[in-house]
Amino acid sequence: MHDELKQRMIEAGRILEQAGQGDWTRGHISLRVPDAPDRFYMKASKIGLEEIAFDNIITVGLDGEKIEGEHGRHNEVYIHSEVLRARPDVNAVVHTHAPHAVSFSALGKPLQAIGHPGAIFAEGLPVFSETTELITTADRGRAVATTLGTHGAMLLQNHGLVTAAPTIEQAVYLALSLENACMMQLWVEAAGGAKALGKPEDVQAKRKHMFRDEMFKATFAYLVRRLKRS
Ligand SMILES: [Zn+2]
Repeated sequence: MHDELKQRMIEAGRILEQAGQGDWTRGHISLRVPDAPDRFYMKASKIGLEEIAFDNIITVGLDGEKIEGEHGRHNEVYIHSEVLRARPDVNAVVHTHAPHAVSFSALGKPLQAIGHPGAIFAEGLPVFSETTELITTADRGRAVATTLGTHGAMLLQNHGLVTAAPTIEQAVYLALSLENACMMQLWVEAAGGAKALGKPEDVQAKRKHMFRDEMFKATFAYLVRRLKRS
């Protein structure tokens, strides 16, 4: 069932891994089940992001308990269950330990729009700092969802990133953009910090250009074509 949706999850895992966001078997993706909004499909534990396949995707309830599937469930399932519970507008959640995002979070500095990707987060980038430990309880998952609020992306300090969106295409776009934005700022900070930044109105205009459903879909389609060439 929902093979097309699961195929998107398989592609998303390979795209994220190819972009350097894999952390061995850590990191996960979830997709809300279209006709059962209190359930979601999720990457299983003990496999890499690029190893997601039709026969290892599991089904989980909003309480974090596995409903279907042979494979194991990630301990950090509560990031997904609690964000999906808190946000009826969200159908896709991505969590990775993207290295530049983790490194940037240790600076304790706000994200700047160094290049295009940073402009996407000009409306604010929440940072969860209550703990740097894993999100292994529903309480911690709820705290993450509260920090995320109505945003589409956030950092977990010294841990990773979370993106949440109506579509998997958008959630992946935000995850890749956030990692690139953090990487650019790390370079600039290493060179002494930004001395030249775009005007706020330019940044807002750029954000508008890049934050469009058409852009999310076209980028995802391009990344799938690129996967096939590699
Ligand atoms: Zn994690």
